[in-house]
Amino acid sequence: MNGKKMNTISSPKDELGVDPKNHYRYCPRCATKGNFDSNSFAFKCHSCGFHFFLNSSAAVTALIYNQKGELLFTHRGVEPSIGKLDLPGGFIDPGENAETAMMREIKEELDLTPDKIEYFASFPNEYHFSGTVVFTIDMVYKCSVSDFSTLTYRDDIIGLEFIKPEKVDFNEIPFKSVRNIIKAIRNE
Ligand SMILES: [Zn+2]
Repeated sequence: MNGKKMNTISSPKDELGVDPKNHYRYCPRCATKGNFDSNSFAFKCHSCGFHFFLNSSAAVTALIYNQKGELLFTHRGVEPSIGKLDLPGGFIDPGENAETAMMREIKEELDLTPDKIEYFASFPNEYHFSGTVVFTIDMVYKCSVSDFSTLTYRDDIIGLEFIKPEKVDFNEIPFKSVRNIIKAIRNE
């Protein structure tokens, strides 16, 4: 993953900061003090009228199987949860479509080029980054790869592992969305 990949920060000093209502206390446009409404996930400025909604950030996640039916996991190379299991993927850039983002992330992280990608389902996630909660919606694609000869790893990955979905240890998966993805695969 590149720098935009999901990180979790759970140390006690960050706990006060993670709730979004602790942030966004000033209008992003005119800097008037105001209040973030955590029920509507919105900040409305009483001075200039600017209305800001906190939405989920769109992300893509890849399911890549080898010929033995094992799923490709990455080992996280950044704290926290360094060494723990994750799936390949990352954020969709503004203006980019999800399919292009999926192909780009697989190329950037793993140097693989899928023959075909097929949308599977989406899974919400929350991760703690930079002292706040970032809400994401992880769009999952089944990615058919026939040529693994170029397989490598870059960015914030320190290793790769193929594991049968039914054998993966959930204690090794720090992200809720990834655990739910594996559950969904097992129930297919
Ligand atoms: Zn304002």
